Amino acid sequence: IVTSVQPATLPLDRLVGVGPGTVIRLTRLELLTVQDLLFHLPLRYEDRTHLTPINALIGGSNALIQGQVIHVRSGPRRQLIVDIDDGTGVATLMFFHFTVAQRNALDVGLAIRCWGEVRMSIFGTELIHPEYQLRDHPDRLPPLSAQLTPIYPTTDGLPQSRLRSLVSQALGAIVSQRDTTIDRCLRGALSALPDFVDALHTIHQPAADADTASLADGTHSARIRLAFEELLAQQVAVLRNRRQQRAALAPAMQGGDFIADIESVTPFRLTNAQRRVIAELDADLMKTMPMLRLVQGDVGSGKTIVAAHACLRAVRNGFQAALMVPTEVLAEQHLVNFTRWLAPLGVRVAMLLGRRPSAKQRALIRAQLARGELDLIIGTQALIQSPVAFARLGLVVIDEQHRFGVRQRLALKEKGATGFDGVTTTPHQLVLTATPIPRTLAQTAYADLDISIIDELPPGRLPVTTVSLPDSRREEVITRIAAACRDGRQAYWVCPLIDASEKVAAEAAEETVARLRADLPRLRIGLAHGRLRSADRAAELASFAAGEIDLLVATTVIEVGVDVPNASLMVIENAERLGLAQLHQLRGRVGRGSAQSHCVLLYAPPLSHHSRARLALLRETNDGFRIAEKDLELRGAGEVLGTRQTGEVHLRAADLLRDHALLPAVQKLAPELLDDAPLLATLELRWLPRAQDYVSV
Ligand code: ADP
Ligand code: MG
Repeated sequence: IVTSVQPATLPLDRLVGVGPGTVIRLTRLELLTVQDLLFHLPLRYEDRTHLTPINALIGGSNALIQGQVIHVRSGPRRQLIVDIDDGTGVATLMFFHFTVAQRNALDVGLAIRCWGEVRMSIFGTELIHPEYQLRDHPDRLPPLSAQLTPIYPTTDGLPQSRLRSLVSQALGAIVSQRDTTIDRCLRGALSALPDFVDALHTIHQPAADADTASLADGTHSARIRLAFEELLAQQVAVLRNRRQQRAALAPAMQGGDFIADIESVTPFRLTNAQRRVIAELDADLMKTMPMLRLVQGDVGSGKTIVAAHACLRAVRNGFQAALMVPTEVLAEQHLVNFTRWLAPLGVRVAMLLGRRPSAKQRALIRAQLARGELDLIIGTQALIQSPVAFARLGLVVIDEQHRFGVRQRLALKEKGATGFDGVTTTPHQLVLTATPIPRTLAQTAYADLDISIIDELPPGRLPVTTVSLPDSRREEVITRIAAACRDGRQAYWVCPLIDASEKVAAEAAEETVARLRADLPRLRIGLAHGRLRSADRAAELASFAAGEIDLLVATTVIEVGVDVPNASLMVIENAERLGLAQLHQLRGRVGRGSAQSHCVLLYAPPLSHHSRARLALLRETNDGFRIAEKDLELRGAGEVLGTRQTGEVHLRAADLLRDHALLPAVQKLAPELLDDAPLLATLELRWLPRAQDYVSV
């Protein structure tokens, strides 16, 4: 069958018993290669290594029993009832659904071995729907397993027994990988770790006396062995990416004081934190090594103006800048702001969206970009579509980075790499995010980025006061909106629908707006959702910004990029269904002016334990960093980094939270391995076979 081939590249249909149907089911579990199967870790284990006499069975436990079929009959509601006797007592097997073939095979006198959960009832000892094996003689039953039985995450139509047999074959394929350089090197770094092959055997086929609790929760040395190697592979990839990026040539953008220019066009003075971060960016931009910098700052900390400053420096140095954002709403907001700030300073700004402006104008904008007649282009994904070419792209800014997919970002960077003046250069990159990245994650997933933090809000901001209320108190909330709007304030009503299509969310918003218009006839109520024509939505948002609308009912399209300082009240419906980061981000739409702002989190009781914890934390703090740390704790790293959408850090064996104690050793070892090409190749093949998923910028 399978011998010494690389399991990382070996497709699963090469295993015995894997046809097209099984391949589809395995793909559903994201298992594409033999290696994926090896890293598909058991959730728990069952002990089927010994038989329990029927008279020693304990209700509620799982047990393996073996005996003779003594009676087969039908029960009420077409159940199949089978009595078996093992000499110590009789147990009854109950099946509620079964096939004719199954029933016909169950003959009195046959030897049977079953595994299932034991139930003690008034009728005696029962096993409901046990797994079983039948033979005509007890000697013909297969020998008892010497190992514990792993239970894997699976999907419809893929039974545990099938997964077990496939994993067994996969284990057979890696014997040739025993005692590799990686094993020696990892054991040097952290003693008492098993080698790769042993670790996988222990995890998939543990001995009867193995510590299953630690195997299942990931604290066993076999699991640590894998986690360590995976973190190492990840870290090495990030370091290599960083090294490659920095080896490229970027346009140096010389000095000059642009802060004075910026402050001449804004009504405010920059905060100290903004000045510090601007200085950090300036130092990077003046070098010929490409900048790769992430600016983190809580919602409302003023990241946009910092990006505008960097764009101004690029343009004054004769380069173009591109600003990429995840939503059209945010692009429109930025077009307004950047035009207001930078046009008076001589910067030519335009916006490019998927379907706007008109096709003719889009073509014109592209031509202008290619001829260098535009300095700053703001756009969504449309920016990275192929017809866009730049004359002298020197700076790429990516706002709300966490909402982008990795590939989209890579593509934009490549635009600049085409070169001008006969030299191939790479643009500087500035990445902005309001989702603070907990330190643990920053050290790993973003290790190739330099990080600047805006840790101060503009002066005069009052923290938003947050309350949570059951939706039965909706009337009170409506009264409160009426009062706030009567005082000249504005409000948002957010109707998020999780897991619903944009269409369903839009319908919910339409319904809510109708009800609120009936309840609050004197208010001017607007509506913004993703299914409106984008020009209509933009018009609605513009009227809200101009104060012509009192209450804006919206879906989460307003999550980023809406900046209306006069809005001081936000109601979020179904808040219990949103994650912490998203709630925090939404709440950041208020508290942007000098008035005291309020956020009402409406929830549908009863609250789960987690939802309760989330809402409590939001009431307690406005600190995005604290919220992010807690979010990581509650949801795990994949969710926090938005792995689902971005495929950013897809860890299979490691868990950043659980395994963070390994990071110092990983970080120490990784740089030492950077020049060991064969070792890196193995690590990469094992852990990062779909490599483009793992580059963090
Ligand atoms: P975010 O960091 O969430 O992107 P923005 O850049 O949108 O924040 O800024 C939030 C608001 O604060 C905007 O209205 C912006 O004009 C304003 N702002 C930015 N910097 C300052 C400052 N130094 N002083 C006062 N207001 C500021
Ligand atoms: Mg912003």
